[in-house]
Amino acid sequence: MTQLILAEAALTPEGDLGRYWLRLAQGRILDAGHGHPPETPDLHLTEGVLAPGFVDVHAHGGGGAAFTEGADAAGTVLTAHRHRGTTTMLASLVSAPIPALLDQAERLRPLVETGELAGIHLEGPWLSCAHRGAHEASLLSDPTPEAVSAVLEHQAAELLRYVTLAPELPGALEAVARLQAAGLVVGVGHTGADVAQTRAALSAGASAATHLFNAMLGLHHREPGPPLALLEDSTAFLELISDGVHLDPEMVRYVWHSAARNGGPRRLVLVSDAMAGAAAPEGRYALGTLNVDVADGVARLQAPDGAQGAIAGSAVTLAEAVRRSILDAGIAPGEALMAATANPAEMIGLADVGRLLPGGRADLVLLDPAWQVNSVMRRGRWLGEAPGPGPQTDAPAG
Ligand SMILES: [Zn+2]
Repeated sequence: MTQLILAEAALTPEGDLGRYWLRLAQGRILDAGHGHPPETPDLHLTEGVLAPGFVDVHAHGGGGAAFTEGADAAGTVLTAHRHRGTTTMLASLVSAPIPALLDQAERLRPLVETGELAGIHLEGPWLSCAHRGAHEASLLSDPTPEAVSAVLEHQAAELLRYVTLAPELPGALEAVARLQAAGLVVGVGHTGADVAQTRAALSAGASAATHLFNAMLGLHHREPGPPLALLEDSTAFLELISDGVHLDPEMVRYVWHSAARNGGPRRLVLVSDAMAGAAAPEGRYALGTLNVDVADGVARLQAPDGAQGAIAGSAVTLAEAVRRSILDAGIAPGEALMAATANPAEMIGLADVGRLLPGGRADLVLLDPAWQVNSVMRRGRWLGEAPGPGPQTDAPAG
């Protein structure tokens, strides 16, 4: 059975918002096109914006659960994010000893093999102690040749897609080259690197910034850090946590326009960096071995009374990051939506999500005029309530 959907405003594969139709069958997009559909649509969306389901390449948890807690908990995380529009996720794992990380990855294998998860992101343990953020200091280590071999020669390596590391650590540049050669995306992050060390990592094969500006040196005039090298590189993907907490909306706007002038807006990748407290009530949650308190929409490491802990992941979903980028940072809606769909898919090499093209997955998000998620379809099925059929008065015959 096929279903024809016509949207008056959809994110086209080119990144514009325009009239677009889709024919769906068996969880996939069978056919799609601009303008008038070939026959009367089964569903005509006259309000809001239809977009591909969101793709989040950096998230640790949500719905009260975390990816480090095994497959059942991961199912809770995926459900929480899906109902808020994110239909494709990598599971980000925080720093731990290598054997423990590989064990956590193996426990998620069933979800990767069935396509519920797009793969695994190792955020650590090869990170700078001085820029560790919410990673436990005692669990950080250097990317020695032996450590890299331990990862790449383990069967869990086939589940991995993305590794974040600090390029100034001993052995890091060789590690970047080996990880990239093994087909993994390498992101520069949680780092004390300077401009030159960051450029060296990009030359060695790194292709992304893990949450640009957070947990790294900034754009200081005498001490420019990784952002300068990453912004100047015309191909590196730039993760941004546009939650109104990790980055000022003014900085989101500056980075956006700077990257757009140098390589184009396709380099921008919105991520949630969500921890367990995203899409869940506020309170105390675990992030790896550390406690994180979520209050007033901000996740912070547990701190003694009166003190303020470091920000530790976010409490937002990708949909909220899109909304804030558009409404607070003034990003063009088409560009903000591409940064949550096509761009992250391209960053980690997923061909069948992120764009409404024939052959792609039937993963859809319908946003209302205030950029809130109204309805979500994953693999051809509406989660929760399907959108209403709407008026079908102007459906042309051909
Ligand atoms: Zn991080």
